[in-house]
Amino acid sequence: MSGGGMIDFEIHRSEQPVTATEREALLANPGFGRVFTDHMVTIRYAEGKGWYDARVEARAPIPMDPATAVLHYGQEIFEGLKAYHRADGKTGLFRADANARRFAESARRMAMAPLPEDLFLSSIEKLVDVDRDWVPTSEGGSLYLRPFQYANEVFLGVRPSHEYLYVLIASPVGSYFSGGLKPVSIWVSQDYTRAAPGGTGAAKCGGNYAASLIAQAQAAEHGCDQVVFLDAVHRSYIDELGGMNIFFVRKDGSLITPELNGSILPGITRESVIKLAQAEGRTVEQRQISLHEWREGAKSGEIVETFACGTAAVLTPIGTVRANDGEFLLGTGETGPVTSALRQSLVDIQYGRAEDIYGWTTII
Ligand SMILES: *Cc1c(COP(=O)(O)O)cnc(C)c1O
Repeated sequence: MSGGGMIDFEIHRSEQPVTATEREALLANPGFGRVFTDHMVTIRYAEGKGWYDARVEARAPIPMDPATAVLHYGQEIFEGLKAYHRADGKTGLFRADANARRFAESARRMAMAPLPEDLFLSSIEKLVDVDRDWVPTSEGGSLYLRPFQYANEVFLGVRPSHEYLYVLIASPVGSYFSGGLKPVSIWVSQDYTRAAPGGTGAAKCGGNYAASLIAQAQAAEHGCDQVVFLDAVHRSYIDELGGMNIFFVRKDGSLITPELNGSILPGITRESVIKLAQAEGRTVEQRQISLHEWREGAKSGEIVETFACGTAAVLTPIGTVRANDGEFLLGTGETGPVTSALRQSLVDIQYGRAEDIYGWTTII
């Protein structure tokens, strides 16, 4: 049952799905992460038994013993990907195989049993199929998929859990940018770091987010939308945002993005942007870049644009950067042409409006 062997899913459709009228009303303005579909997937794991009991069923609360390990030691990982209503009327996924691989890698880092990648992918396909009517057809909308896995053993001893629960839920989301692409302001966290060498920065685990929230709250206190973290060793090189990677555009049209150093989450959007930019003939340097280089480059006109990227918001232009010792603008603080063009190329593939020469798309 464990390992690569496929297990069958039991499918139990909800007896009380949301009515079509109610669903249409919810889909009219879903926001982000507050509306959920009718169903969910669960798959269980027990040591010695492997993965078992895969099911699609009505979305419902999960009863939990207060001594469940995840509540105490935070052994938890997640993923985030989207299903898109395509120009041809079909429903597509974007690079879900990369999410499956990263999910298993995150599990290994957190000493958890990795879910076989084929099982991850079929859970996604089964849920999207059952909840197909929840995929928004509105401009810029998508069905956000949230797979996660946690230590489900009832035990307070400190060691990797012997039991895990994998869960997949889905949430229709609207366009992240309802009023067009608006640059965000960024707070540089000089008090806190997000991840250190040897730590869990490259794993997509809830703990990294817990560690980043205080810095995000500081960003808000300083009137900023997002926070960017510096490396934990020198406290001078740019790592990434709390949940997005970062790119710098030079005046010659080339790009710089921090190299994957073990503390940075290897974003699938990051990797896709690198491929798309290279296909346009741009040079992409993956290397350390300091806050000093960023600031001086922005002031001298060497760095003309900066953007953040991730599945949820695709590409987000950064307009203003604020730190303890002052602030600076990227260009005029408006969305730059390279950011807009790369974003467009990416969403055109995701929504099936442009040919996908990379084989990034799966139709469900
Ligand atoms: C998920 C995530 C990203 C973006 O990854 P994508 O695969 O592009 O969505 C970047 N940084 C962190 C910390 C993340 O958790």
